[in-house]
Amino acid sequence: MQDDIAEILVTQEEIQAKVVELGRRISEDYRGKDLLLVGLLRGAIVFLSDLMRAIDIPVRLDFIGISSYGASTESGAVRLVMDLESDIAGRHVLIVEDIVDTGKTLAYLVENLRARRPASLRICALLDKPERRQVPIQIDYVGFVIPDKFVVGYGLDFAEGYRNLPFVGVLKEHLYKEVLMRGAILQRIQNYLNRQITLSELVAWARDTLAAGDLPLNEASLLQELIARVGEPGSPGFGLTVDDCADLLRRLGHEMRVSLGPLTY
Ligand code: 5GP
Repeated sequence: MQDDIAEILVTQEEIQAKVVELGRRISEDYRGKDLLLVGLLRGAIVFLSDLMRAIDIPVRLDFIGISSYGASTESGAVRLVMDLESDIAGRHVLIVEDIVDTGKTLAYLVENLRARRPASLRICALLDKPERRQVPIQIDYVGFVIPDKFVVGYGLDFAEGYRNLPFVGVLKEHLYKEVLMRGAILQRIQNYLNRQITLSELVAWARDTLAAGDLPLNEASLLQELIARVGEPGSPGFGLTVDDCADLLRRLGHEMRVSLGPLTY
């Protein structure tokens, strides 16, 4: 696992020292108050479990699950997948998050929780990537400001891996690229099936991507196969059958399901 890391951005020792400092500040700010820590699943759990032990006032704990649609490293639209157990009305709530990137996740969460009328609502994030921000977010307690790099470790994952690394590191590019490329192929096939792009556009994209070179082997062969299955325009077998699509999607780890419904106009 450590071999997959190109660079350690924040060491275990730096994290430990920062957690102690944040714990001290939070304890001082909330002394005498009833503090509820709300951890965002799943990335924040490592940070949260260390942070809560660095806080020396009584705290309660709850979790909330948020998921974003879209490619693996970009947050798209956000939705709630697991709600809090506690009623937060009148309570002092501190959201604990692993990283703030575009800000969309927290913007959604803050709006959602604010509507439940807590006495106060603040944010504590281990990492902040301000260069990527799309939605302004006030982070009250920040661990480290980091550059625009995709990081893993200390709770942060890539395709559900690397969460248990004790530091925050940058993944080697070739690992990263492979999963991103798979995501891109998947997306194009989906676009074609949803009639957002034509078959010719799909093939043109596959050819251009192959021509650009430097593709991971598996993904290159997937694209070659896609082109071969489609055939030449004008030739008798030109096209992509449902079976072809299902097979390509299966190789990308996805299953094709067909849903029927009444026509909508
Ligand atoms: P935002 O909504 O601010 O764009 O993104 C927040 C979420 O995106 C985080 O909770 C995290 O799950 C994911 N994320 C953003 N940047 C990174 C990153 O560099 N590494 C990892 N592993 N996840 C990230």
